[in-house]
Amino acid sequence: MEGCLCYKKPMIRVNEALDKILSHIHPLGFEKVSLLDGLGRVMAEDMIAPSDLPPYDNSGMDGYAVRSEDVRNASEANPVRLEVIEDLRAGFFSEKTVQKGQAIRIMTGAPIPRGADSVVPVEDTKKGDGSVLVLKASLSGGYIRRAGENVKRGDLVISAGDIIRPSEIGMLASMGKPFISVFQRPSVAILCTGEELVDVGEALDGAKIVSSNSYTLAAQVRECGAIPIQLGIARDRKDEIKEKILKGLWADVFISSAGVSVGDYDFVRDVLKELGVELIFWRVAMKPGKPVAFWMFKGKPIFSLPGNPVSSMVTFEQFVRPSLLKMMGHRQLFRPVVEAMLKEEIRKEPGKMHFVRAIVSSDKDGYWVTTTGAQGSGILSSMLKANGLIIIPEDCEVVRAGEKVKVQLLERNS
Ligand code: AMP
Ligand code: MG
Repeated sequence: MEGCLCYKKPMIRVNEALDKILSHIHPLGFEKVSLLDGLGRVMAEDMIAPSDLPPYDNSGMDGYAVRSEDVRNASEANPVRLEVIEDLRAGFFSEKTVQKGQAIRIMTGAPIPRGADSVVPVEDTKKGDGSVLVLKASLSGGYIRRAGENVKRGDLVISAGDIIRPSEIGMLASMGKPFISVFQRPSVAILCTGEELVDVGEALDGAKIVSSNSYTLAAQVRECGAIPIQLGIARDRKDEIKEKILKGLWADVFISSAGVSVGDYDFVRDVLKELGVELIFWRVAMKPGKPVAFWMFKGKPIFSLPGNPVSSMVTFEQFVRPSLLKMMGHRQLFRPVVEAMLKEEIRKEPGKMHFVRAIVSSDKDGYWVTTTGAQGSGILSSMLKANGLIIIPEDCEVVRAGEKVKVQLLERNS
């Protein structure tokens, strides 16, 4: 039996699997989106400042625009009286020039008038009739925001590959960009297979269970910024799996869940082979997640993830997430990995890399980590507790309490 031959093939290592996958994955093209829709996306073009920001010297305070030499010796004991020749609001240039002994009342953001070289905050003054008493000396340049101090014309403000956060959105708005060019997001078709599965909300007759992977995977896809397309459930029948896979191949990426191991009804690999899809690898030396397979079809990646809910999530994390991020132009493809002090002993068989669900915390001495307890690959509730995955290398058999381990940090911070 062909399946038996495959079964005897050695598993590849996690890092090798990841390298193979990423060598087949390339960033998608660009698209124009309206500015706010750019939030969380990756910039596809360098953004050069078309002009200085702010565009002119302006007041940093509500106060009086003055000639600093007029108020050089001002103090509470020795106030200086200046004639107020205008009231200047933000949004208007003054037509006037501040002469010796004069001041212009000025609001924050209003352009500094000709002749003035300093602003005295209103708190350091006393209002008179048509005049103002300055109670504090002010240096040249005081409380003036210089043209270009935010960005200078020609500055590279945002680079292609940068993630667009609220601050980038504001900067792009300041530079007058209502539309921006960003990397496209892949559509990701998700097909769950299994005779036992029903959709959420459907009757759980007999030995049926809800296809939670349909939703976990869609949520994981969406969380990394890609577009999930839920193809629903295919029963363990080749024709049904084939029909749904053919629909899913319209997407940029295809993910199947379950039916990829060595069970008598695991047909996903048979169907993909019949469709002429190229197998890149099957089975990785990891726990959970061993039966994962990766394929390419006409330039599109296909991931066959195992059905156990934790295996599905962990293999998505290790293989699918970095791939989707690469397609979307991200530079940083991987979760942060930290060294943490292990609080309890972990024993395992050699041969596979283990991803142990864990709770990571930090204090003044650094990170420390405990496991979430039972590690069965069907125990989805353990993923709710976990904020990290302890990575135990293939050859390691025991890590003792007090030793350092590598921990991949998941979304939630400790
Ligand atoms: P399989 O990979 O088909 O051998 O499935 C492994 C285990 O995962 C079985 O206990 C299945 O019932 C379970 N399983 C498969 N698909 C799903 C799914 N979509 N949602 C939740 N559990 C699943
Ligand atoms: Mg199955």
